[in-house]
Amino acid sequence: MAARKTREFLGNATATIHTGEMKHGVAVPVAPPIVQTSTFTFPNINEMKRWAEGKSKAYIYTRYGNPTLAVAEAKLAQLERGEAAIVTASGMAAISSALLAVLGAGDEVIATRNLYGGTYRLMRDVLPRLGIRVQHVGTNLEGVERLVNKNTKVLYTETPTNPTLQVVDLKKAVALARRYKLVSMVDSTFATPILQRPLELGFDVVLHSATKYLGGHSDIIAGAAVGSREIVEKVRHMVIYLGGSMDPYAAFLLIRGLKTLEVRVRKQAENALAIARFLEKHPTVVRVHYPGLKSHPDHGLARRQMAGGFGSMMAFDLKGGLGAARRFCDRLKVVLLAASLGGVESLVSLPIYTSHYRMSLAELRSSGVEPGTVRLSVGIEDVRDLIADLRQALARQ
Ligand code: PLP
Repeated sequence: MAARKTREFLGNATATIHTGEMKHGVAVPVAPPIVQTSTFTFPNINEMKRWAEGKSKAYIYTRYGNPTLAVAEAKLAQLERGEAAIVTASGMAAISSALLAVLGAGDEVIATRNLYGGTYRLMRDVLPRLGIRVQHVGTNLEGVERLVNKNTKVLYTETPTNPTLQVVDLKKAVALARRYKLVSMVDSTFATPILQRPLELGFDVVLHSATKYLGGHSDIIAGAAVGSREIVEKVRHMVIYLGGSMDPYAAFLLIRGLKTLEVRVRKQAENALAIARFLEKHPTVVRVHYPGLKSHPDHGLARRQMAGGFGSMMAFDLKGGLGAARRFCDRLKVVLLAASLGGVESLVSLPIYTSHYRMSLAELRSSGVEPGTVRLSVGIEDVRDLIADLRQALARQ
């Protein structure tokens, strides 16, 4: 009997892992098991045949689905208020699979110009080779009406943007997408579902680099797409074709990260606001890009759109340009010099050497990035330690 129940819990019959409740008299763990398997057994060949005929929802192979991934997906769907979610091997796997799920040769995308560099480069270097045309607009979405045509299928946005924290009006984007029957997609990595929920405003797909805040500890590469059951199934098929599926251990760490998402996001945003105010007053700083500052051009929009905080990403320019930025980075002691963002530890980088490498000066400037722009991801450390570190690194300019 016990063996049968163990099989039921861990084996092929398990549709979802129920955490923290009694299921069929079996005490189940609070933390979900990591179903670290590439493949799943079938009790007999007839069940395998039923799977092939689409008559059974049994797990077969982890690229197609896995119970630990299903827990992460259910949690993300709930957090984003979506019907369904798919988790992927990286944010780029989610973004590329979502785009290719709805686009084919001859189709067109209208995308905001200010995007994470990897997304921008995918649109610049790969989509055109597949016969997909990409046209860019500013974060104010002006020009969409002029560019849209019968081939346009997707309106793609990111907000707040990486790295200069511009804010796209989500309601305006949804209205445009609906008017022209476009699939609306938004990369909501910087905001997290704690600060904005685009699906509630009518977006079709929300994308995340779960490597960042959702994981939250700089220890996984992960992604997610959330939306209606129908569209998520299309993305899932593309993930199965292209192979960008998540590993069960990464799913476990993602689930663990999600448990503290809200407290992390709130503490990080509180630290970030204090730091942005400190930087704005500092004599060596020319400009701070943080939507929580009244001086930020999108402050009003961010207040309306982002509930209870402005996130913990910011960028700033120093009077001495690139040289000063390089010296500043090398002097930091508490803040770590690293690409990526969204973890509990504060990280600093220069976008020209990380997210925005291999972009011309014109491309950088059109997305608001200067060669000396510094990007800061604020963590959960004591904000006094962070400000003291920034102060000493800025003092010796
Ligand atoms: N979207 C944003 C806003 C990002 O900052 C990043 C990575 O930095 C990505 C997507 C890509 O995510 P990943 O590195 O997990 O593929």
